[in-house]
Amino acid sequence: MHTYVSFFLDDLSPYVEGEGGELIRIDASALIEVLDFVREEGLAGAVSVIPAMFGRLLTRPQNEHERRFAEAIGRLGEYPVDPHMEIMTHGRLFDFSKMTLSDGPTEMEWLDDPSVSVDEYRDYFLNTIRVGRELGVRYTGVSTPGTHPKMNPNVYKALLELAEAGEFPNAVIPVFATIEEGHPTMAPRPREVRGDFGVYETPSGVWDYLASWRNSPDWVDVDHYIDEKGDGCLARMIKAGSFMALFHMHWQGLNPQTGLGWEAFQRLIERLRSQFGDRVVWRRPSEIVCQFHRKGGTRA
Ligand SMILES: [Zn+2]
Repeated sequence: MHTYVSFFLDDLSPYVEGEGGELIRIDASALIEVLDFVREEGLAGAVSVIPAMFGRLLTRPQNEHERRFAEAIGRLGEYPVDPHMEIMTHGRLFDFSKMTLSDGPTEMEWLDDPSVSVDEYRDYFLNTIRVGRELGVRYTGVSTPGTHPKMNPNVYKALLELAEAGEFPNAVIPVFATIEEGHPTMAPRPREVRGDFGVYETPSGVWDYLASWRNSPDWVDVDHYIDEKGDGCLARMIKAGSFMALFHMHWQGLNPQTGLGWEAFQRLIERLRSQFGDRVVWRRPSEIVCQFHRKGGTRA
């Protein structure tokens, strides 16, 4: 019996916001340190690539710092991580005709807006995919900015069309849009499926207690995932033989330069290994949904 375990690392950016809203530079070496750790420890997961977070377009770096960070992002393919679209800006919608932020609503609001058509979503996602390619990234899935239990279902339809058109490297696409803590077992949920192609929702099974986007010591709690006695949210899923056990983290809390969750993350990995050994099988989210789809949407 084993459980596929994976992580989503959200909000990756060359900057994090300070308490006064000022931008603090996070060096590219912090990203490489995380990626090296993931590879050396045999982990796998997904990392969000947001080409224009804070309105800074990484394909047009404004300084040496941004240029180095963009270059590190271009090396993601050397590591066992999926690059995920957390959409183009993680803020207001992007105007691709002017290549700047628009005055429009936020991507968060837009994903839930029931009036947005399949075509509108498809065009926006495709434009983001194209910018990703300029960065050397081939997106394999989506992590949404914010959580979306009531997302417009046209999002899934648009993603299926893009998968069928060969715009993703795989035929099956994972979407991380919700956090659902407290289920003993979890599996991917089909949202749009047609033949070999599919779009599956892959919820995180636990809230971010690795400092979170707040980068707060109040949100550091490894025991919440797995404590010394083998209890905790993640531990319970593995013990129950869940098909998958996914968790998510944020660059604000995880980055080794300023994040208060970096050491906690390493402790979590150590506990998983010592308490569960081979029962934990690390896979990228795209591998988890592809396998699930191949087996006909069952865990067999
Ligand atoms: Zn985010």
